[in-house]
Amino acid sequence: MSSRYSVFSLIANAFSGQKGWTPAWRDAAPRPDYDVLVIGGGGHGLATAYYLAKVHGIRNVAVLEKGTIGSGNAGRNTTIIRSNYLLPGNQPFYEWSMKLWEGLEQDLNYNAMVSQRGVLNLFHSDAQRDAFARRGNSMRLSGADSELIDRDQVRALAPFLNFDHARFPIQGGLLQKRGGTARHDAVVWGYARAADRLGVDIVQNCEVTGFIRENGAVVGVETTRGPVRARKIGLAVAGSTSRLTRLLDLRLPIESHVLTAFVSEGLKPVVPGVVTFGMGHFYVSQSDKGGLVFGGDIDGYNSYAQRGNLPVVEDVCEAAMALMPQLGRLRVLRSWAGLMDMSMDGSPIIDRTPIPGLYLNCGWNYGGFKATPASGWCFAWTLAQDAPHALNAAYRLDRSRTGHMIDEKGVGAQPNLH
Ligand SMILES: Cc1cc2nc3c(=O)[nH]c(=O)nc-3n(C[C@H](O)[C@H](O)[C@H](O)COP(=O)(O)OP(=O)(O)OC[C@H]3O[C@@H](n4cnc5c(N)ncnc54)[C@H](O)[C@@H]3O)c2cc1C
Repeated sequence: MSSRYSVFSLIANAFSGQKGWTPAWRDAAPRPDYDVLVIGGGGHGLATAYYLAKVHGIRNVAVLEKGTIGSGNAGRNTTIIRSNYLLPGNQPFYEWSMKLWEGLEQDLNYNAMVSQRGVLNLFHSDAQRDAFARRGNSMRLSGADSELIDRDQVRALAPFLNFDHARFPIQGGLLQKRGGTARHDAVVWGYARAADRLGVDIVQNCEVTGFIRENGAVVGVETTRGPVRARKIGLAVAGSTSRLTRLLDLRLPIESHVLTAFVSEGLKPVVPGVVTFGMGHFYVSQSDKGGLVFGGDIDGYNSYAQRGNLPVVEDVCEAAMALMPQLGRLRVLRSWAGLMDMSMDGSPIIDRTPIPGLYLNCGWNYGGFKATPASGWCFAWTLAQDAPHALNAAYRLDRSRTGHMIDEKGVGAQPNLH
C-alpha cells in the first residue's frame, strides 16, 4: 500500500534520500471475477470506484482502462470547476460536486491543487444580465454563492479586458468566488491512489472489447487481457460510450465530438481567475506555470479523433481577440483535443440501462471535469443501491423519450449549440 502523505513522511524521506516512497497505486492484473467493474480510468471511473469502496463498503472492484489512467478527457481539459447552473435537475448536483471539491484534498490525502480563484461570466446586454441574475438566484437557492457585479467591479477584477468593444461592450458579470480550477492529472492520481488504498484494482492497458451476456444480462467483459466477470458493470468511458454500447445494440442519445484546448507561453500573473466571454464561446484562465489556458467550441461534426480542426482554432482566436486584443501578441505553445460525449440537452446521464447488470455514466458535454466528484459519488450510489440518488434522479437515460429534457442553455437538441 502507498504511504500516507504528511509533513512527517516528507521529513522522514528528506532524511533518507527520498528512498522511502512507495508507488502511489499498485499495477494490478485483472482477476477473473469482481463485484463491480468500472470501465474507464478517467476521473469519473476512478471516483466511482473510490466512493464504492469508501461510502458503500464495496471493495471487490476493478477499474479497467484501455491506456493509462487520465489519458482521456480527464487529462485534456481546461480544469475549470464551478457550480453556476440554473435548472433544478442540475444545480444541486453541481453544488454537491463543489462541496466535494472543497474537501477533496483532505479526503484523498492528495494535493489536487484545488484553487478557488473565482469564475466570472461576463454579460454584454440587458437581456444577458437578466438571465444571469436569474441564474445567480437559482445558485443561491441551492446554497451556492453568486454575485452579480457591474462593469466597474469587473474592471477592478480584470482591467485587461476590452470594455469598449463596439459590438460587445462589457456590462458586468456573474461571479462565483468559490469556482476556480483544479489540477486535472492530480485529481486522477489522487482518486486512483485513494481507491487503491481501499483495495480497488486499477488495471491499465486493458481495453474492453466485448461483453459477456447470459440470459439477456451483462455478466462480464472481454478484454485485451482476458475475460473478466462481475455482478455489476458501470461504463464511464466518456466519448467512447457509443462505441461500447454499440456492441450491445444499445443506441444512446449522445454524439461524440472533438473539443480543443490551447495553452500559451508563460506570462507573469495577469488573469486572476477564470473569465468567460458572453458573446462567443471562449473561456480563459492562467495556469500556475503562467500559461494562459483557453478553449471554445466543439468541432461541428461527429468524430472519435483526439485532434481538432482549423475552423475552431480560428473561431477561438476571434473570440479571444474580441475579449483581450493584447492576446494577438501572445504565442500559443500547444493545442490538443479530447473526445466529448455530447448529449442532446447538454446534461449528463447517470442511470441503469435496460440491460440487467449494465449501468451508464456519460453525456458530460463540455463540463464533466467539474462534475468528477459528484459524478463518481452518484454513480457509486446508483451501482450500489441499484437506484439513482436524488441528486442524479433527473439524469435518466430515457428522458429524451419521455420528454423530461434538462435543457440548461435553452438552445434545443443540437450538441453544437450548447
Ligand atoms: C479540451 C477539453 C476541455 C475541457 N474543459 C473542461 C473544463 O474546463 N471543465 C469541465 O468541467 N470539463 C471540461 N471538459 C470536459 C471533461 O474533461 C470531461 O467531461 C470529463 O473529463 C469526462 O469524464 P472522464 O474524466 O471520466 O473521461 P475520460 O478521462 O475521457 O475517461 C474515459 C476513459 O475511458 C477509457 N476507455 C475508453 N474506451 C475504453 C475501453 N473500451 N476499455 C477500457 N477503457 C476505455 C479512455 O481511455 C479514458 O481514459 C473538457 C474536455 C476537453 C476535451
